[in-house]
Amino acid sequence: MINLKLKANFSWSGPPFVARISNTISTNDDLTFPFKKDELGNISVHYKSGIFSFLPPQADDFEGDVLLCDPKSSKIQRIFRANSNYNSLLMTERCDQMCVMCSQPPRKTNDAWRFPIYEQALTLASQGATICLSGGEPTLYKAELFTLLENLSSSRPDLKIHILSNCQHLTPEDIPRLQKIHESLDVLWGIPIYASKSEIHEDIVDKHGSFNILMNNLYLLASSKANIELRTVVMATNSLELPDLSKFISDHLDFANYWAIMALEPVGFAKANLGNLLYDHSIAPQPIHKAIDIAVARGVDVRLFNFPLCTVGPQYRKYCKQSISDWKRKYLDICGKCTVKEECTGFFEWYDERSKWERISQL
Ligand code: SF4
Repeated sequence: MINLKLKANFSWSGPPFVARISNTISTNDDLTFPFKKDELGNISVHYKSGIFSFLPPQADDFEGDVLLCDPKSSKIQRIFRANSNYNSLLMTERCDQMCVMCSQPPRKTNDAWRFPIYEQALTLASQGATICLSGGEPTLYKAELFTLLENLSSSRPDLKIHILSNCQHLTPEDIPRLQKIHESLDVLWGIPIYASKSEIHEDIVDKHGSFNILMNNLYLLASSKANIELRTVVMATNSLELPDLSKFISDHLDFANYWAIMALEPVGFAKANLGNLLYDHSIAPQPIHKAIDIAVARGVDVRLFNFPLCTVGPQYRKYCKQSISDWKRKYLDICGKCTVKEECTGFFEWYDERSKWERISQL
């Protein structure tokens, strides 16, 4: 696991800021600073207000990284690693849903401060980078989010933005504005749907009435010419429903770019509720196989996220994607001599005995 949050020493106290550290990028911006590495591995940066330094826990290249620095808490966070394709920004910890398997349990924080700072960070991202904006629920700060997207449309139209949203907060008035954003910025909206039956979906997200709002807002979003990724986490509580959901998506949501069927990330609420949620698809992959068969037959682009290759049937492995972020991905001892390790997404760092799937085998 790559630790993204590090202790740091600052020679001053002040509000959070972003800085890119680089000894090779030549730029006129006032957010990029050279850094020095001493013989012990300490990295020090001469910032405008003083010096900050930190000791990376593992040998890693920080060249070109964008850091969120907080002198008050003596911490830095590597928000964009220049050598990674898995960069994301937590836009807020607030959420209006309480999903049983949430990997990032909501907190009642005030996160408006993040938006201008993250906008600065986004201007420093690598050319053509894909950046995920996650939460919490980013559209709880809809005004700030839309402004950020509009500004990126002109300052960094090369970026690809992936927004994870529960799609509960759009209104018809948002559509012209969104349409304009979608015309000039590559935005993919990742929207969860857990079942075709409202009661199952609403049990999972713990919000009464959310299914109809989700459906209405998916249609609204589609009308703004949005790119849409539908996301379904597989749990014991919805696994048998997957074939029905596949039909439902092909009947009613075929405007989506693709459907991601996702294995559970065993952390946060998912870890606390594992006894009720864990579904061992390595032993019983049938509902997933069936859902894929239906989707493919009906022309839905379907993908498997977070599924190790050996846990699905051979003819379904082509749908598996390298979806687990590099900083939280691991492989097991058994993977050592596996011939497909390079293509396999592996396991979440927090995968353990409690969350294990029975059938893992070298290919
Ligand atoms: S043995 Fe490991 S690397 Fe090979 S397919 Fe299974 S999980 Fe992936």
